Amino acid sequence: MTGGTVLFAVGEHPGEGAHGGQLRRIGRETEAKGLEVRWAATEPEARAVLRTEAGLAAAVVAWDLPPGPHGGDEPGGAAVLRRIGRRFKNLPVLLVMEEDADQDLERLPLWVAETVVGYVWPLEDTPAFIAGRIASAAHAYREAVLPPFFKALRRFDDAHEYSWHTPAHAGGVAFLKSPVGRAFFDHYGEQLLRSDLSISVEELGSLFEHTGPIGDAERNAARVFGADRTYFVLHGNSTADRMVGHFCVSRDEIALVDRNCHKSVLHGLVISGARPVYLIPTRNGYGLAGPLPPAVTEAAAVRDRIAGNPLAGGAASLRPEYAIVTNSTYDGLCYDAVQVARDLAASSPRVHFDEAWYAYARFHPLYAGRYGTAVGPDTFPGPERPTVFATQSTHKLLAALSQTAMVHVKSSPRAPVEHDRFNEAFMMHGTTSPLYPALASLDVATGMMDGPQGRWLIDEAVTEAVRFRQTIARTGRRIATAGDRPAWFFGVWQPDTVTDPGTGERHAFADAPLDLLRSRPSCWHLEPGAAWHGFPGLTAGYCMLDPVKVTLTCPGIDATGTWADHGIPARILTAYLATRNIVVEKTDSYTTLVLFSMGITKGKWGTLLDALMDFKALHDDGALLDHVLPGIVAAYPRRYAGTSLRELCGAMHDHLRGADLVTLLDRAFQELPEPVAPPQWCYQQLIRSGTERIRIAGAAGRTAAAMITVTPPGIPVLMPGESVGPDDGPLLRYLRALESFDRAFPGFRSETHGVTVDDETGDYRIECVLPDRAPGAP
Ligand SMILES: *Cc1c(COP(=O)(O)O)cnc(C)c1O
Repeated sequence: MTGGTVLFAVGEHPGEGAHGGQLRRIGRETEAKGLEVRWAATEPEARAVLRTEAGLAAAVVAWDLPPGPHGGDEPGGAAVLRRIGRRFKNLPVLLVMEEDADQDLERLPLWVAETVVGYVWPLEDTPAFIAGRIASAAHAYREAVLPPFFKALRRFDDAHEYSWHTPAHAGGVAFLKSPVGRAFFDHYGEQLLRSDLSISVEELGSLFEHTGPIGDAERNAARVFGADRTYFVLHGNSTADRMVGHFCVSRDEIALVDRNCHKSVLHGLVISGARPVYLIPTRNGYGLAGPLPPAVTEAAAVRDRIAGNPLAGGAASLRPEYAIVTNSTYDGLCYDAVQVARDLAASSPRVHFDEAWYAYARFHPLYAGRYGTAVGPDTFPGPERPTVFATQSTHKLLAALSQTAMVHVKSSPRAPVEHDRFNEAFMMHGTTSPLYPALASLDVATGMMDGPQGRWLIDEAVTEAVRFRQTIARTGRRIATAGDRPAWFFGVWQPDTVTDPGTGERHAFADAPLDLLRSRPSCWHLEPGAAWHGFPGLTAGYCMLDPVKVTLTCPGIDATGTWADHGIPARILTAYLATRNIVVEKTDSYTTLVLFSMGITKGKWGTLLDALMDFKALHDDGALLDHVLPGIVAAYPRRYAGTSLRELCGAMHDHLRGADLVTLLDRAFQELPEPVAPPQWCYQQLIRSGTERIRIAGAAGRTAAAMITVTPPGIPVLMPGESVGPDDGPLLRYLRALESFDRAFPGFRSETHGVTVDDETGDYRIECVLPDRAPGAP
């Protein structure tokens, strides 16, 4: 391990003359101190190092560095300093001065003095002395970038104390006593096991009392994420959601719940005993779930929904105590959070934004005002402001270990959150044995977002996503005009044209300037009535498509629900992508979602583009499934052997179109099931043998005891305590249509959670309350 890398952006690779020779010697001495040296002769070379070298610990920059071709009048050194400031917070920079030093210093703009930590006159001191200054600045920087908990943990690791406490593996030593343990130890290495410590290590602070380095790390996260207070949570954002739900609403109180919610939100309702009143998101022709439109969240609409809910009659009060909204949605739809808070504040004193997929929002100006912690006294003054909670799966889109999450709190005088009380909920849902490497990863994920580098990292993901989106659009256009092959190609769900708000100029999306798309939120707004998104009832700027959540569209249907004669159901595409080792996030009927997170590279998305082109060629050339999807043919030879990819696409498309799944789904969501009992009551039946798994053929009129989620749209169609409805009702018709699809296309099963499928018959079974347990039964 080196002590870091030092950029020497000092002009021509030195060697000639007294000045150059001295720089070369300084470089050698720097290496002798355990640092790696990267030489850059020009500003573009220095820029390449800055882009790729995250281990940079210091930079030595010559003011007169040759500029790049677009550098203008500014010396290359100035451009390098600016770039450093954009990517690194407080990276030590030493400026190399020519020998006529006095004039030089005065020639420099004032901002330079504020940016650099010192100056180097190569011939004035010995190389060893100058290298010593560089090394000590680099060392101090490497220490200073460490966030509080990780820094303390490393220091503790280095001390190598004997442990007399849990965990019993004692820094990994216990594993060495058996062959299987040894294999584990060798796989993960000593370092990880050494830092798996118990809470008895006082120097590291307490997660429950929020003291010491752990408390410092949480306070640092609150600052970075813009919260009043931040809590580190293990066991995922699922735990964070249950914690907040359990704290905000109590038995028989009303909770306003986005129907597009994660199952952990339902679990919170089971634990609290709340009575949910669901708010229904809009949907489009692809079957994608959209946002909750303003007409659903405003006070009068909420009052109507409560009045129409049979369970509300038994509620303690008709005033909701808690509202929860998913932001952004799975498909990357993010709200004007301040407006949503304003709308919901008229009904509820507490608003919870479930931001499981969205922890990066604060770090890029594209998302300004669109995340929970943006709602504060500055953006929403006055006594009506609700208390806001934002829960985030840090592991999902920032760099942190699985299961790590955060709860951010912005308390308002209207529903103040006293820390000691919230901490009871925190402890109730937490373990008393937190995994310290996981906590350290929360601390590090925070550190990575702190300062300019956070924006830099997110901007890179946004930029690559925009490049990918434009490349697909341009490729589609090229194919359409080539004339030598079928004109279809995959698309990306995005506007066809965008307007530059600065000039008013309109561009085709494919040709729009990259800088426009990556910096102007209005390019991504879901403008009311636009056909590309197909969601009704939106207002200007209310909802935005997040560029990093990329939905690929397949031919077959469009956002307004208009069918095409031939189609490529997305399940076939994703089965093919899997054979190319490309695993997507989610697949609906004609769309599939890929994420551009911080780990994206051009090589990675280039591979995806290549696979899409190959799929098209296989489809158009009549390739057989035996060759394209050999695994599926091997599993179901009678069904698929000898069938071509094109035939399968056609047959599946005809089935989807004939069954009219889109219309059925639409009805299943417009006509929500009748609520019969609160979720907690259903759960009590479940653990007291009051429920059974039954075939959907006999489920009419029964009360569901488990959540059922189908994809599309990936949101629950049935919640515990809701009636399954009549046989010819929307829900059972929809489930039967899915069942028949699964029977017709083995190997391409629908994604249904809460449904078990009989291996022999393909029958769907769901969990229902026994008839004699139904509330009101004798
Ligand atoms: C994934 C997810 C969760 C749960 O997060 P985990 O970290 O997996 O526990 C909560 N809400 C939403 C909307 C999610 O997508």
